Amino acid sequence: MLNDGPVSSLRRVPWLVIGGGISGLEAARRLGACEPGGLLVEASPRFGGIVRSDVWNGAVLDLGPDGWVAAKPQVAALCNELGLADQIVKPLPSASRLLALHGGVLTPMPAGLKLTIPVSPLAARRIAARDKNLARRVLLEPLVSRKSWDDPLADESIGDFVRRRMGTRWASEVSLPILAGIHSGDPNELSVRAAFPQFVEAERRMGSLLRDAFVRRRGGEVSTFLSLRGGMQTLIDALVRAASVHGELRLDTSVERVEGCEEGGASARLSSGETLHAGRIVVATGPRIAASLLRAAAPNLAENLKGVPHRSAHVVVFALREECVAHALDASGFIALDRRAGGLVAATFLSSKWAGRKPMGQVLVRAFMAPGEAFDADAASDDAIASRALSELRPLLGISGEPEKSWVRRFIDATPQPVVGHRERMQNARIMASAHPWLALVGAGYEGVGLGDAVRSTVEATL
Ligand SMILES: Cc1cc2nc3c(=O)[nH]c(=O)nc-3n(C[C@H](O)[C@H](O)[C@H](O)COP(=O)(O)OP(=O)(O)OC[C@H]3O[C@@H](n4cnc5c(N)ncnc54)[C@H](O)[C@@H]3O)c2cc1C
Repeated sequence: MLNDGPVSSLRRVPWLVIGGGISGLEAARRLGACEPGGLLVEASPRFGGIVRSDVWNGAVLDLGPDGWVAAKPQVAALCNELGLADQIVKPLPSASRLLALHGGVLTPMPAGLKLTIPVSPLAARRIAARDKNLARRVLLEPLVSRKSWDDPLADESIGDFVRRRMGTRWASEVSLPILAGIHSGDPNELSVRAAFPQFVEAERRMGSLLRDAFVRRRGGEVSTFLSLRGGMQTLIDALVRAASVHGELRLDTSVERVEGCEEGGASARLSSGETLHAGRIVVATGPRIAASLLRAAAPNLAENLKGVPHRSAHVVVFALREECVAHALDASGFIALDRRAGGLVAATFLSSKWAGRKPMGQVLVRAFMAPGEAFDADAASDDAIASRALSELRPLLGISGEPEKSWVRRFIDATPQPVVGHRERMQNARIMASAHPWLALVGAGYEGVGLGDAVRSTVEATL
C-alpha cells in the first residue's frame, strides 16, 4: 500500500519510464506512439545518460560512446527510423590500425582482425610474418576439440575460452586486453556466453572461430564501427524530439522508489514529492539502480539484480596543439596489454578516427582511466585524473606543452559486468519479473552492454 493517501488521488499515467538515456528515450518514443500521455523522468539535468557529445572549436567530441558496432544493426535501424540515415559515418581509413601498449612502448596490433580473430588467410599470414610460433598456435585453432554448449546455461570465462581455443600467448598479447577492455572488466571473470555469445555460436556451429570468421568474411559481412557525423548526441537529440511528441519528458526528477503494485499497475514516488500510478513502468537505469528502486515492489528480483557487479571507467579528452604532439596518431588509438596497475588503460585518437573531429590546428585524444593496484581512479579528483592521464600520455605520444583544453567525465560503477553465470542470473530475473506484468527492465547490462544491446532490449520489451 502507498504511504500517502488513496490511489484515487494520485496522478495516473499509462506509462512511466525511469531514466533518460538512449534506452529510456527509445522506450518513451515507442510507448508514446501506441498510447500517448505517459511520462519519462530523468534524474540529471540532461538527457542522454552515458551518451554525450560536445562541440569545441567547430569539432565534435564524444565524452561517452563514440560509435556502435555495425554488426549489431539496432542502432543503425533506429537512426533510419529517426531520419538520420544520411548522417551515419564510417571511421577514417587510418583508424583500421590499433596499437598495443606494453612496457611503455606502442606497437601495432596485427591487422585484419575482427574482435581479435583473424578474418582471412592473409591476416593469418601477416601474423606469421611477425611471429611464426604465435601464428602456428593460432592456425591450429580449428583443430582444437569443441566444448559442448548444449546446456543453455553452460558457461566459461572469456580468459579460459580464448586460452583454450587460441593459446595463452594470443590470449595475453592480443585478445584479452581488447575483449576485456570493451567491458572495462577482468577476462577471468567475464562470461564468454554473456559478453561474446557470437564466439560460443562459432564454436558450437563451426567448431572453430577462425573457420567462422573466414566464412563470414567471404559472405561479405561488414566489420566496422559506425557513428554519426555530429556525434552520438545527434541520436539523443532526435530521440528527445520524437519522444516528446506523445509523452512528457522531465529533467531533474528522479524516482525514489517503486511501490506496491495494484489495480493493473504500480506506483512510483518521485523526488518532486509526487506519487504516480502507471499501468506500465519501464526501468531504464541499468541493473544496479533498478535493484534499489525495486526493493519494495519486487524484492526477489531486486536481490537478484543486486548481484550484477559493476566497474568504473573515467574519460579524459585533451585538445592539444598539433605541433605539441610528436606521434603521427595514425591509428584509432591504443590498448594497454596489462591493466592491473590501473591508470591509463586505453586511448582513442578521436581526431584521427572520425572525419570532422579535428579542431583547426589541434588534435583530440581521449584517455580511458581505470582503478587498479597503483592508481585509485575512483577516489582521485578530476584534476588528479587529468594530470595522471597527461603524465602517462606524454612519453607515449611525445606531448610537449600544456593542453589547450581538457574534459573529465566520471563513470563510477557505471559498467555492468556480465560475469560467468550472468545468463543464468538473467534467466532467473526474467522469471521473477514475469510475476510483475506492469514492469519492464530495459537497457544495457541485462543482455549485453553496448548501445546496440541497449536498443535491442528496449525494442523487445516494448513490442
Ligand atoms: C566510458 C564508456 C564508453 C562507452 N563506449 C561505448 C561505445 O563506444 N559503443 C557502445 O556501443 N557502447 C559504449 N558504451 C556503453 C553504452 O554507453 C551503454 O550501453 C548505453 O549508453 C546505455 O544506455 P542506457 O540508456 O541503458 O543507460 P544510461 O545511459 O546509463 O542511462 C540511464 C539514465 O537513467 C538515469 N537515472 C538513474 N537513476 C534514476 C532515477 N532514480 N530516476 C530517474 N532517472 C534515473 C541516469 O541519470 C541516466 O541518464 C560505453 C560506456 C561507457 C561507460
